[in-house]
Amino acid sequence: MPELENLKKVWDNVFSCMGCGECGFAVNPNAEIYLTCPVKEALGDAAFEIHFSRGRMSVLKSILKGAIPLSKELAEFVYQCTECGNCTETCHQCDENVVLKISEWIDHNNVWNALRKDLVQAGHAPLEKHATLIELMNNPEMKNPYGEEKSKKYAWADGFSNIKEKGEFAIFGGCTMPLRQAETLKNMMKIFQAAGKDIAMSKDEWCCGSIAMRIGDYKAVEEEVKHNIELYKSMGAKTVFSPCAGCYRTLKKDYPEIIGEELPFEVKHITEVLAEMIKNNEIAFKEAEAETLKVTYHDPCHLGRHMDLYEEPREIISKIPGIELVEMKRNRKNAWCCGAGGGVKSQFPELSLDISKERVREAIETGARVFLTSCPFCVGNLRDAVNQMSSEVQDKIEVVDIIDFIALKI
Ligand code: SF4
Ligand code: SF4
Repeated sequence: MPELENLKKVWDNVFSCMGCGECGFAVNPNAEIYLTCPVKEALGDAAFEIHFSRGRMSVLKSILKGAIPLSKELAEFVYQCTECGNCTETCHQCDENVVLKISEWIDHNNVWNALRKDLVQAGHAPLEKHATLIELMNNPEMKNPYGEEKSKKYAWADGFSNIKEKGEFAIFGGCTMPLRQAETLKNMMKIFQAAGKDIAMSKDEWCCGSIAMRIGDYKAVEEEVKHNIELYKSMGAKTVFSPCAGCYRTLKKDYPEIIGEELPFEVKHITEVLAEMIKNNEIAFKEAEAETLKVTYHDPCHLGRHMDLYEEPREIISKIPGIELVEMKRNRKNAWCCGAGGGVKSQFPELSLDISKERVREAIETGARVFLTSCPFCVGNLRDAVNQMSSEVQDKIEVVDIIDFIALKI
C-alpha cells in the first residue's frame, strides 16, 4: 500500500487552507455563527491547535511535505474530532477579504477521513476501543458493535403483524435503536399500524459499517456492504428507510461511493417517510391540549451537515397541533454537535459528554420543555448528559426521539 495513499488524493484541499482560524474562533451573528468546533470548546484551556481544523491542516501540510511522519501519538489527537462538519460550514462562509475563495474547495470531513484511513493503513489506528467495536461488528455471531447476539436485534418486532419478510418498503433498523432504544421502534410501528402501512424486515441485517468507516477502516466493512445490498435486493426492496441518522448517511452516501455505482434501491430517513405520510394525511393527530407545548429540535450532524436534511423534521413538528418549535441559537448548518460522532463517544466518553452538556444548556435557553432529535446516537448522548446534570436541569427538559413524540400525539 503506498504511503499516504489517501491524503495525497486530498492534498489540494489541505493546501487550500489559508490558516485564518475561523474554524476555531468564528463568532458572526450576521451569519448565525456562534463558534465552530465543539471539541476545541469542550477542551477549553487543554485544547491545542491540532484539536481544531486550522492546526490539523497545518500538521497535514507538514506530513504531505514529508517533514513529520504519521504516528500513534498523532492518532490520539486526530480521533478527538466528532466529524461534525461545522468547520466546513464556517470555513465556506469566511469573508472573502479574509480568506481566498479557494477555501470553498475544502471538504474537511473528507480530509479527516483520508487521514484516518492512512493512519489505519500505517498501523497506528484503530485505537483500542475502536478496535474492539470493529471486532464485535465482524464477529459472525453478532454482526453489531454492541457485542449482542444477532437475534436480539429483532426482539422488538415480535407481535407486529404488519412486518413482512419481503416487500418494496423495507426497514434498515441499524444496531443502536433495536439494541438500546427498542421502544422507539415499537412506537414507529404504532404509527405505521394506525396508517395501515406494512413494512418488510429481514432478520439477517448486519451493521451498516458506519463505525468502521468513520474510524477509517474500510477493509473491515467490505463484507457488510456486500451482504446488506444483496439482502435488500433479495427482499425486493425499492425503498429502504432507516430510523438512524448514521445508517442513513452510510447507506445513502458511503455505500454507492464504495461500490462505485448507484444502489438498486432508494434510501430514506424515517423523518422523510413521516413527513410524506403527514402530507398524504396518513397520520391523524389528537387535538391540541389547552396549553401550547414548546419544543426545540437538534439537527443530528449525520442528517444535517452531512446530508443536507434539515426541513423534514421541522415540517413534521409544525404539523403537530398545540406545539411551538423554538429554535436554538445554533441550528441547521451551525448546529452544535451532540458530541457522539466520529468514534468520540466510545474512545473519549468524557469529552463526548462535555460537548453534549453544552447542547443541553443551549436547548434549555430556548425555554422548551421537550428536546427533540432524530438519531439514536444523539438521543443516547443527550440523555446521558441530562442524567449527569443537576436535578434542576432534569426537571426542565426531556430528550425525546421525534418518532416517540409523534406516537404520543396520535
Ligand atoms: S476556516 Fe478554513 S481556511 Fe481558515 S483556517 Fe480553518 S480550514 Fe483553514
Ligand atoms: S469536524 Fe467538528 S469536531 Fe472535527 S474539527 Fe471540524 S468542527 Fe471540530
